[in-house]
Amino acid sequence: MTNKVKVTTCSLGGCFGCHMSIMDIDEQFFELARLVEFTRTPLTDVKQIVTSDVGILEGGVCNSENIEILKEFRKNTKTLVALGACAITGGVPAMRNQYSVEQCLRESYIDGAGLENPQIPNDPEIPLVLNQVHPLHEVVKIDYFLPGCPPPASAILSFLQNFIEGKPIDYSYQQIHFD
Ligand code: SF4
Repeated sequence: MTNKVKVTTCSLGGCFGCHMSIMDIDEQFFELARLVEFTRTPLTDVKQIVTSDVGILEGGVCNSENIEILKEFRKNTKTLVALGACAITGGVPAMRNQYSVEQCLRESYIDGAGLENPQIPNDPEIPLVLNQVHPLHEVVKIDYFLPGCPPPASAILSFLQNFIEGKPIDYSYQQIHFD
């Protein structure tokens, strides 16, 4: 296939568990690689923004850098996918939304157990923490949602295969139910 589908991925406020699930596609990657080119992803270690057909993002929107990257992805990507519970609902990082930023920073850097030389970092290089963690669709338009914590590799593979073949995006019951 000459025109491969270009795929970019990134973790915003995520734990990389969703990316580990991408890795769990395992040997089926060989087949996928005939159809897909992974450009900017943590897997390829390419960090600059590139245009792509599909952008897959894990994690909630937690700080100013997450917003910047999310908007860049929206601008340069035809189809944007929220991968996993944190991207879809805010998930684990949004558990801090019940506390103020000051409370969170104090607990992390001043009052937490076992801290030495406690102080809140204040370097301009560090992205500003948002008051609340947001799911991706509250910041930009999202085209597809792939649930799970993390979504199973088979669901990620199904999504990519169906997308490439122009089929409707559909998952089996087992792929998106976790009870
Ligand atoms: Fe990690 Fe689960 Fe959030 Fe994915 S959805 S980034 S695996 S906590």
